[in-house]
Amino acid sequence: MNPDEKTLWKAAVRARENAHAPYSGYRVGAALSIVGSEAVISGCNVENASYGGTLCAERVAVCRAVAEHGPDTRISALVLVTATPAPPCGLCLQVLSEFAKGDLPVFLATPSGIHRTYTLDDLLPIRFDNANLEHDPHD
Ligand code: ZN
Repeated sequence: MNPDEKTLWKAAVRARENAHAPYSGYRVGAALSIVGSEAVISGCNVENASYGGTLCAERVAVCRAVAEHGPDTRISALVLVTATPAPPCGLCLQVLSEFAKGDLPVFLATPSGIHRTYTLDDLLPIRFDNANLEHDPHD
């Protein structure tokens, strides 16, 4: 059985405590579940003195999920914990779309609880995906 959003929220709160955010001070925790698994996979943001090397919590969690469960990993829910509810950045939405359907629930939360729920379709309604790669007009 998939972990529920409260279980994911607790994991995201814990992950946020490990955030490495000495430059922005903006700590983020994420936790996701995957289809057909009881696993709870978390991530935190990991900043770098070379700012471009910074990874968001969501992408850390997605990469952990793929590393642990393989390239066919399908994400079934995501909880994001920030000081005030905030959506994933555009880059993370794009990465999430590689491993989730449009109905992916994205729960925006704080350390006090879950505040808003969206779907991936809400947050990234028109996205570039592998279907686009199959239609090169120059072929
Ligand atoms: Zn991001």
